[in-house]
Amino acid sequence: MTLTILGNQGPYPGKGGVCSGYLVEAAGRRILLDCGSGVLSALQQHLPLSGLDAIVLSHLHYDHFSDLLVFQYFMQLSVKSGLMAGPMPVWGPGTPQPHKSLLVASEYLDYTEITQQSRLDIGGVQLSFFRTAHPVESYAIRLEYGNKIIVYTGDSKLCPGLADFSRGAGILLADACFLHQEKQAGDLPHMSARECGILAREADAGRLLLTHFRPGSCLQDHCKEALEVFSHTEAPDPGTRHDV
Ligand SMILES: [Zn+2]
Ligand SMILES: [Zn+2]
Repeated sequence: MTLTILGNQGPYPGKGGVCSGYLVEAAGRRILLDCGSGVLSALQQHLPLSGLDAIVLSHLHYDHFSDLLVFQYFMQLSVKSGLMAGPMPVWGPGTPQPHKSLLVASEYLDYTEITQQSRLDIGGVQLSFFRTAHPVESYAIRLEYGNKIIVYTGDSKLCPGLADFSRGAGILLADACFLHQEKQAGDLPHMSARECGILAREADAGRLLLTHFRPGSCLQDHCKEALEVFSHTEAPDPGTRHDV
């Protein structure tokens, strides 16, 4: 399996930046995890939009799905011109209802709600989900193909059960929005880089990839903090590809 970082910023993109979006390729399938601001443009550096097989959304905050709203127009033009056969399969949470209704209403998206019990098989790639701790219904996503495992935390605080769900991941892609010191300020809805390191260590992950940085964040600082806890940590730039 190969993971490509398309965007690593949130909750809005900085100058030249891209919000959450990650391409997973396995078994000849191309699965897009999240589709925030700038992801469609970044994705086309790697493949045409018509090459996607499925889209899976961790949650319905705008920095994780806003580009899906304009993706409908690509689908509309593509279906009418015969480039694409039908609606794009999209899986995501059932709430918040107003956000979901924007996607369900489109005849060019085939939206299916996920729950923690959902199990998907996309061309031989197995997907399962874990409800995380975030202000809206949010899921971590586990993808397995053969003995290869990628886990993406989506947005979350460090919460009970997340390490078990992430167990044995060759790549753990984790929401490292904050530094430890910043989290002392209050109850924030994302992990610190240090908490991501703790998660990776408890999950016995192979590699920890940090993501979801606020514009202006120093990636080296986040990486350094996680490295104090877990030695196989990186803060990869958009456009990088990672094999597991
Ligand atoms: Zn986010
Ligand atoms: Zn969020």
